Amino acid sequence: MIWRERKSEKEALIEEVSAEIAELENRLGWRALSDEVLTALKQVPRDQFVPEESRYRAWENHPLPIGYQQTISQPFIVAIMTQLLNPEKNHRVLEVGTGCGYQAAVLSCLVEKVYSIEVIPELTRESELRLKNLGYNNISLRCGDGYAGWSESAPFDGIIVTAGTSLVPEPLVTQLKVGGRMVIPVGPAHQSQMLKVITKVNEHTVDIEDIIPVVFVPFVRSELL
Ligand code: SAH
Repeated sequence: MIWRERKSEKEALIEEVSAEIAELENRLGWRALSDEVLTALKQVPRDQFVPEESRYRAWENHPLPIGYQQTISQPFIVAIMTQLLNPEKNHRVLEVGTGCGYQAAVLSCLVEKVYSIEVIPELTRESELRLKNLGYNNISLRCGDGYAGWSESAPFDGIIVTAGTSLVPEPLVTQLKVGGRMVIPVGPAHQSQMLKVITKVNEHTVDIEDIIPVVFVPFVRSELL
């Protein structure tokens, strides 16, 4: 009799995400997930970032509601955005749209320091507590409108925006290092956006690459809240 161990739900999810990205690789000539990004995805306990009633769905490749009309991103999207950022051990990265803190936790395994801004005070407080309890100690959170970025800690090696914005916030481009990359979904609210990689070539020039269509919750300006 051959006994095969049942794959854990987490392993199955990681395999599914890797396969989806490998498919993109074939279709778009895109690159596969790096070992570092895969390891980070395996390390972060996604079930600790969702409300208790949806824990049983934490290892599905879907976004899930986290309250306040917001969601935790789909693991495939977190994987692809993390990879596109080209994170390195000595990088300092800014995230706009902390939500439950999952993407920030994944990044914290890969870079030296993560700064993350969330516009909803309750989510900022909850994520601060969650990340601290889980032992992520290289993440600083702030509540506010991420449009303005985090100028005191700029410039950043990478910037990741996890809400759909109709235009690229100028202050974020300013706060990106020359040679740095910004990963950002750009397009109309409540429709699909284009995930873009914006590379700062020099102080006056950026290079823009369209990756795939995505659907994010809207980027809101705090004066409209
Ligand atoms: N990064 C999250 C997903 C976040 S969903 C994850 O790891 O799963 C997008 C988040 O962006 C929401 O929590 C929303 O409140 C926040 N947001 C929207 N507009 C923002 C703004 N202008 N500044 C900061 N956060 C914003």
